[in-house]
Amino acid sequence: MTSKREWSLGEFEIGKPLGRGKFGRVYLAREVKSKFIVALKLIYKAQIEKYQLHHQLRREMEIQTSLRHPNILRLYGWFHDNDRVFLILEYAHGGELYKKLKKQGYLTENQAATYIASLAQALAYCHEKHVIHRDIKPENLLLDHEGRLKIADFGWSVQSRSKRHTMCGTLDYLAPEMVEHKAHDYAVDNWTLGVLCYEFLYGVPPFEAESQSDTFRRIMKVDLNFPPVPQVSSEAKDLICQLLVRDPSKRLSLQKIMDHPWIIENANPKGICS
Ligand code: AMP
Repeated sequence: MTSKREWSLGEFEIGKPLGRGKFGRVYLAREVKSKFIVALKLIYKAQIEKYQLHHQLRREMEIQTSLRHPNILRLYGWFHDNDRVFLILEYAHGGELYKKLKKQGYLTENQAATYIASLAQALAYCHEKHVIHRDIKPENLLLDHEGRLKIADFGWSVQSRSKRHTMCGTLDYLAPEMVEHKAHDYAVDNWTLGVLCYEFLYGVPPFEAESQSDTFRRIMKVDLNFPPVPQVSSEAKDLICQLLVRDPSKRLSLQKIMDHPWIIENANPKGICS
């Protein structure tokens, strides 16, 4: 599959629906000639126009097409007809990590460490390419057939942000500097890794509250509590505490996350877990 070639709908057999986003649907599909399996995402042009997303979508699609990393969902190419834009995406057979988290309640330390290490590696790659703020959260993380994590939120961050608002109205993943509308940099992603690590291990994000303003307040105070559950080790808490730091320059770097004893001890180096 290559993005250079011009594709059209006739070249794909459409299979079962995989899910539904705000602007369209996602289907399992197979390229007729090569039999290559993909996920085909439809976005209605009327929606793109209504929300004036044209430039953003195009820019983000170009970014995602250029990224090649085992933990970043590939965008192989795109095409359009009169009413719709079609994105040809890598198929993530394992579905949403969010569903796995909800089903299990919380993840094991092996699972959580493997996903955090995979995210740190993918983000280090993005940061090298000067790509930041990926809107990382469990709903935007997919799993492939081997259980490898794939970041899937490139290109429609506005869509996924609005999805978040309508879904549960929380802003749980925002770093303090973003809540305050201050200038922010790569370190916002490191904060988000701390939030995610907590949510993976405890099943709920750390600053969850009844209202948005309470969540804001808790984020600003870094009001962090660790419920007394037996499955979370002190090394895991140490990593979380080193990421959920108010001053962005004092947060643990991505390299130091990968070298943290809890990650070394628990993460599968191949990024695979069941
Ligand atoms: P989205 O519009 O990106 O929010 O996608 C809607 C739903 O479709 C997601 O929540 C996933 O369950 C599913 N989905 C999206 N992309 C893929 C993919 N590449 N592989 C498998 N399922 C996907």
